[in-house]
Amino acid sequence: MISSADIRKLLNFKGDGYKVCSFYLNVDGSKYTPRDYETLAKDLIKERRLQLQGEDLPPPVRQSLEEDFEKIERFVRQGFQRNNSRGLAIFSCAGKDFWQVYPLPRPVKNAFILGSDPYIRPLTVLLDEYHRYCLTLVSRNKARIFEVYLGEILEHSEIFDEEVPGKVRVAGWYGLEEKRIERHIEYHVYQHLKRVADQVFDFFKNRRFDYLVIGGRSDILPEFERCLHSSLKERLVAKVDLDVEAPLHEIKAQVLQIEREVEQRQEVNLITRLVEEVSTEGFGVSGLHDTLRALHVGNIHTLLVEEGFSTPGMECQKCGFLTPVEEKFCPICQGPLQEVPDVVDEAIEEVYRQRGEVEHIPDNPVLRQLGRIGALLRFKMPTTLQTLPPSSEGSREIQGR
Ligand SMILES: [Zn+2]
Repeated sequence: MISSADIRKLLNFKGDGYKVCSFYLNVDGSKYTPRDYETLAKDLIKERRLQLQGEDLPPPVRQSLEEDFEKIERFVRQGFQRNNSRGLAIFSCAGKDFWQVYPLPRPVKNAFILGSDPYIRPLTVLLDEYHRYCLTLVSRNKARIFEVYLGEILEHSEIFDEEVPGKVRVAGWYGLEEKRIERHIEYHVYQHLKRVADQVFDFFKNRRFDYLVIGGRSDILPEFERCLHSSLKERLVAKVDLDVEAPLHEIKAQVLQIEREVEQRQEVNLITRLVEEVSTEGFGVSGLHDTLRALHVGNIHTLLVEEGFSTPGMECQKCGFLTPVEEKFCPICQGPLQEVPDVVDEAIEEVYRQRGEVEHIPDNPVLRQLGRIGALLRFKMPTTLQTLPPSSEGSREIQGR
């Protein structure tokens, strides 16, 4: 399964003169048979081959590409096991012995892109959509810990505390005996819940999940919540009435529903925060111009970008500054600018490099009004950068691709 670390690995790879192939294939089982997507892959490759025929490429570059084409086609036909995956991403650069395959839980748009480095935007959309969840179900003497990621659920461990005696039903002298034993049981239940909470915390230290969901009967759930470590309480997003013995398919359906709700809620919160920060000139910027400037000084904590928003522009060859405005020289360092097909893509990649977060927001009227892109910042933007002249005279926005 793909992680932010995988993305950074891809980001750090450069073709060094060789072309890097980024190959995305929709292998959705509800729409395509293996024969369908094999044909599709073949056509995509054929198309690229034809395009390259007329190009003047150094022989080693051409040979590397030929190897890539052959390898990708062969992998799709023979090596790939679809199983539950609905998308496939392959990155290849034979000349540098680079080969990475990622089966994906969601369909992707078919694309075959050649460039100087891997094209990763479709992967970042997926990553953003799926956070890592931990679901912990507890009862008086049992617990189950699950990890939910990329639409899949994995049972991590089952805890059964034998030291917890069963519920006592006999009443003693005036019920005193029962009360005494009840207290004793409650103490044991408490010890059990503490142990479970410790295990969840260990699991968190290992797996770094983003959100926690807890489930169980309402009589012990509040007690369990009190036992949780503070950094887990911060991640607690939902409490569900779910039996510890519930079948896996039921657990999965519930947790995926929660996941959808949490993600939607989070998007709304982020946009609300962005509007607040922008209107108070606090920790937020909006619009492509200001967002790219914040990016340039390493100031983006969370990038909010409309899904599919793209615009061509320029990149400084010296300092990396990105701008949608066509100019000859960088307004920051006067270095030479070179055209890039999509500055938004470049910006997303740079945010990942800077270890910021990226939220791809489906069409949203508020974000659209803010210029389809914006960012929550690590620090307030220095005014000197914000008030730089937008561009030299005679420059123009680049239209279309
Ligand atoms: Zn520059």
